[in-house]
Amino acid sequence: MEKKKVSLVIPMYYEEEVANECYERVQKILSGLEKYDYEIIFINDGSKDKTLEILENIASKDEKVKVISFSRNFGHQAAVTAGLKEVTGDAIIIIDADLQDPPELIPDMLKYWEEGNEVIYGKRKTRKGESAFKLFTAKMFYKTLNALSDVEIPKDTGDFRLVDRKVVDVVNNMPEHNKFLRGLFSWVGFKQMPYEYERQERFAGKTKYPLKKMLKLASDGIISFSTKPLKLVGALGILSIVISILILIYALISYIFKLNNLSAGWTSTIVAITFFAGVQLLSIWIMSEYIGRIYDETKRRPQYIIDKKINIKEEDKEK
Ligand code: UDP
Ligand code: MG
Repeated sequence: MEKKKVSLVIPMYYEEEVANECYERVQKILSGLEKYDYEIIFINDGSKDKTLEILENIASKDEKVKVISFSRNFGHQAAVTAGLKEVTGDAIIIIDADLQDPPELIPDMLKYWEEGNEVIYGKRKTRKGESAFKLFTAKMFYKTLNALSDVEIPKDTGDFRLVDRKVVDVVNNMPEHNKFLRGLFSWVGFKQMPYEYERQERFAGKTKYPLKKMLKLASDGIISFSTKPLKLVGALGILSIVISILILIYALISYIFKLNNLSAGWTSTIVAITFFAGVQLLSIWIMSEYIGRIYDETKRRPQYIIDKKINIKEEDKEK
């Protein structure tokens, strides 16, 4: 019988300090799995340091290592999406390059996969070495996402997970371009299983997720999984009408009973104008977020551009 194959997808952005260590740790675990064949797919997400050089070097010595290199930085989600398109295995594992998600857990996850689970997603019990700010923003992110979105996205999960081939095929065939993977993997259903683990400290280097990228991820997550913000616009409209009626009543009462002798109507006019201008701008902003995404999707531009592929043969995928 042919061995089952495990595919690892590892995105890298400016990871020259961790690339070698990452390969070694992962390779050690995978080569120890006698029951399985394996492949490791590294995606160089447009790093301009030595990351690609290191990966090319590894790939020249180990043919199980495949490399995809982007023409520029397209972001973590795009990198993982590109990797998923190239996998040839039966079980696919998405893991960060910085070893925050210990590769030593892979055999255990495979055991649960053999038992019939189709998506085994890592759930962080603790997160070592991350700033209070990062922890707080991550918490807010999942809170807001779940409050607003139409699918339950498990909190404290990142992209570290083992996914069955069947589910990867489904996600690969999704028509949308900007894929918010952890949401999609939850949205598709199938047999899901949380897998609790201790998130480690980054092996070396700094986080590649500055606040700006996190905010982008958060808004992608919310907007691709929810239309509630649009409904919020409606609610704001009703609220503003109610408030304007109250202002009107107040104005009438003060006029009839001559409660004050400020130049008539000035305050209420200004209040009304500024208030409604605010409501309108806010509404337009929310709508423009959606329209922006619709525009993006209709352009049908690729989510990423591949500059180079190493050790990847098209025939492999046919099998
Ligand atoms: N990453 C990427 N492209 C980016 C940002 C990050 O491929 O634009 C990769 C990065 O190399 C790492 C993973 O995504 O393997 C997670 O990033 P990081 O560890 O910096 O995020 P954090 O763990 O701090 O949330
Ligand atoms: Mg990390």
